[in-house]
Amino acid sequence: MKLCSAIVGFLKDGLRRDALLVAVSAASLVLSFAMGSAGMIDPEWADPAWAAIVLCGVPILYDAVTGLVFRHDIKADVLVAMAIVASVAMSEFFAAGEVAFIMALGGLLEDWSADRSRQGIEDLVAMVPDTARVIRGGREETVPASSVGIGERVRVLPGETVPLDGRIAEGSTSIDQSSLTGEPMPVDKGAGDGVYSGTVNQLGAFDMEVTERSEDSSFQRLVRMVEAADAGRTRIVRTADRWATWLVALVAVITVVTYVAFRDLSRALTVMIVFCPCAFILATPTAVVAAIGNLAKHGILVRDGDSLESMAGVDRIAFDKTGTVTEGRPSVVSVASLGEMSRDDVLMYAASAESRSEHPLGKAISSRFEEDGGTVGEPQDFRVSVGGGVSAVVGGHDVKVGSARFLGSEGIPVPRTDCPPGSTVVLVAVDGTVRGAVTLSDRVRPDAADAVRRIRENGAECIMLTGDAEAAAEAVASSVGIREVRADCRPEDKVGAIRSLQEDGRRVCMVGDGINDAPSLKTADVGIAMGGAGSGIAVGAADMVLVGDDLSRMPHLQFLASSMMFKIRSNIAFSMCWNMMAVSLAVFGIVGPVAGAIVHNVGSVAVVVNSFLLLAAKEKRC
Ligand code: ADP
Ligand code: MG
Repeated sequence: MKLCSAIVGFLKDGLRRDALLVAVSAASLVLSFAMGSAGMIDPEWADPAWAAIVLCGVPILYDAVTGLVFRHDIKADVLVAMAIVASVAMSEFFAAGEVAFIMALGGLLEDWSADRSRQGIEDLVAMVPDTARVIRGGREETVPASSVGIGERVRVLPGETVPLDGRIAEGSTSIDQSSLTGEPMPVDKGAGDGVYSGTVNQLGAFDMEVTERSEDSSFQRLVRMVEAADAGRTRIVRTADRWATWLVALVAVITVVTYVAFRDLSRALTVMIVFCPCAFILATPTAVVAAIGNLAKHGILVRDGDSLESMAGVDRIAFDKTGTVTEGRPSVVSVASLGEMSRDDVLMYAASAESRSEHPLGKAISSRFEEDGGTVGEPQDFRVSVGGGVSAVVGGHDVKVGSARFLGSEGIPVPRTDCPPGSTVVLVAVDGTVRGAVTLSDRVRPDAADAVRRIRENGAECIMLTGDAEAAAEAVASSVGIREVRADCRPEDKVGAIRSLQEDGRRVCMVGDGINDAPSLKTADVGIAMGGAGSGIAVGAADMVLVGDDLSRMPHLQFLASSMMFKIRSNIAFSMCWNMMAVSLAVFGIVGPVAGAIVHNVGSVAVVVNSFLLLAAKEKRC
């Protein structure tokens, strides 16, 4: 009984079931070949290869016929179906089984690669931490979401994924619920409104009262997020399918010509068998599977094969600064007063306004204040201006903290301030006047300079797109060897910069970590998010994720993407030549159906081996 249910469970997994069918078919073919060579198959139709014909061939015939009849589309399976029928008609059961087997194997590999990239998405989603900022005894603590009880208060900052189901107790925001409802426009929410785990908070911060324990929602959340990430993903159109109509026409012509020229039905049918583009079918999926597997080992999670194909053509790589080229853990260097307000008050206002900020600069300012023994005031009406700064009401005063450009755009007169090289200056305005400045500095990632040099050697130019001021941006860029810098970018300016590069015919990859980078990650031909420093929004918008925030993986990614394309092209070129050769041999009667099927097989094996060499491929470093 137990065994039965184990078997049923095993077979419910489509991939495993297909793998089993393919394995049984392979065994039946080996048996058929062995018995055939020993002359033990008697009568002729009692060939063990029938197992392969039925298990692998019948589904193919079914798909080919229904595709033709109901959708009028010709795919590679039509060619395979023709080959199977031709072989059975000639009583060449081994050849029929073999062709069906190869096609099924190709399908299996493709499903496997889709499964791998689905696994990749799940890994991406799992990287969004399963923690909640719970407020206990007036203090904010970060704890595992599963330990939060019903009725507790949880704080959610801008750009964070809502960790549990609940109701907003304080604050207001808008929430992207597309993972839940598919509705792309964020929904405004205020006190009393319900919020759901797995949806993404946009620009406000709020406290919520938990109404559901995590185990009741977290699995659902994972499922929702994977589905949202999955939506809009396009599958690679199989090269073999793109060409199928032409190939079917060609094989029909060659078969007819052969028959007319030689008046030999067996020879004409052999052409049909040999023509079946098995190696061709295997060319792309095997290379994609191997490349995705290789990259996963090297700390790069890839959402789908298409983005790797785009990566191969990339000739500009744009980096965000804070959190991407730098570590994103800035610390406060100094606090200055620009008027009569004391430095302590400047820091107090800045820290209180920033206490709900998710931005590394904001976090650094509030934690510095708390380290100095201060207690932040409760901010009201907290709002983020992405890539600019924050505003809030603190103790009845209107406080704005951010870049000079941001304060200027809010109508506040901005004094000139000095910025030491490599630091970032954040201005603090209270009630419409700039009262002080906080200077912060952040370490450049140690591997950044080397990564930039090797990326350039691999043929792509690097640029920096940052929301920070010119001087700070230039200092960081020149220390890592990036020559082109666009500073003072709002998120839409980053998108604009990428678009204009694309209009100049460039293929652009964007690497970023923040909420402010999400639109440009989506716009770029390839978007790559930092896995550790990255916010949930950035990870969700990206095609790939650097797991350990390790920029030195980028050159390997470039190398692997172009190796994959080279493999696919060489596989296709090889399999076309091989097929042409086999067809010529068949046309002139040099090989019969069985030898033809074997020649055929050799081509497929060569393609698989060639692709799987990619699994171990490593860039040669000089
Ligand atoms: P980057 O593009 O380099 O990652 P951001 O776009 O995140 O940088 O920020 C750009 C600039 O906007 C910062 O240098 C800072 O001046 C200002 N800024 C953004 N968010 C905040 C914040 N929470 N507090 C203070 N300043 C901020
Ligand atoms: Mg950033």
